[in-house]
Amino acid sequence: MNRVLGVIEGSGPGPLNILLGGIHGNESAGIKAINQVFQEIKTHKVQVKGTLIGIAGNLQALLKNQRFIDYDLNRCWLEEKMAQVYRKEQHAQAEDIELFALHELIISYRNKHKRGEKIIMDLHTTSSEKGNFVVIPQNEARHPIVRALKQPVVVDLHQYLKGTMLRYFMDRGFLALAFEGGMIGSQEAIELHAAGIWELLQASGSISTNTEKSSLSESEILEEYARNLPDFIKVLYHHWIEDDDEFVMQPGYENFQAVTKGEIVAHDKHGAVQAPVTGMMFLPLYQNAGNDGFFIVEEIPVMEHS
Ligand SMILES: [Zn+2]
Repeated sequence: MNRVLGVIEGSGPGPLNILLGGIHGNESAGIKAINQVFQEIKTHKVQVKGTLIGIAGNLQALLKNQRFIDYDLNRCWLEEKMAQVYRKEQHAQAEDIELFALHELIISYRNKHKRGEKIIMDLHTTSSEKGNFVVIPQNEARHPIVRALKQPVVVDLHQYLKGTMLRYFMDRGFLALAFEGGMIGSQEAIELHAAGIWELLQASGSISTNTEKSSLSESEILEEYARNLPDFIKVLYHHWIEDDDEFVMQPGYENFQAVTKGEIVAHDKHGAVQAPVTGMMFLPLYQNAGNDGFFIVEEIPVMEHS
């Protein structure tokens, strides 16, 4: 697989849209959606303004269909780590190579794109049901592009996850958003991601809103998937797990499912793990990788974060 899935240098000035899929190697839905959109743009000769680039994340982990090889490629976007991988002789771990290559590529496009908005959309899928939502920096919750995606918006998740790509590029002049498309390996995630990409392209002015590209209405697809889900949520509790915790989530939890304080939601080597607060279950861990056991979130009013 090539790192660059597609590039379009548009016919006129416009935004820089960077689409990223597969930063976790077991989440290929984003890559499939990006390929699909590039193919449709070509087939329907869609006029693009600005620059559009699709990028594959963790190439080595994608080959093995695993989340990562040596370390999580979405927890390492930190100044000191970057300085380390730029001392080239020290690419001792698989993800060092990936991190370096991604950083070089994205920064080179950022530096070429002097004017116009810069947007990076990082496409993910989750190991639990109903995992469609958007993560953004808090003060961008009402940005037109974020609103166009119509998904539940988590306004503060990035504060709980150290070293995310989202946070790194948010600090470097991008509107950065992570778009979780649903369950790992599902067809729905590809459909939702593709719909989200089209809406991003329209809302950012990269393509015109009356572009004829398919019979499906992307806006309707996005709306359908977000039906009955909250608009804006924030984190109440984050259950961090150590590698030797022997953490096992109780089966059957979905994102946004109600949980009550005291409810046994998981077990680890110390015994039962209870929900410390009442709220909604979020990102329950159903894979053997990662240090985020689960979150508990609550819905917040739309206007609170305007
Ligand atoms: Zn992911």
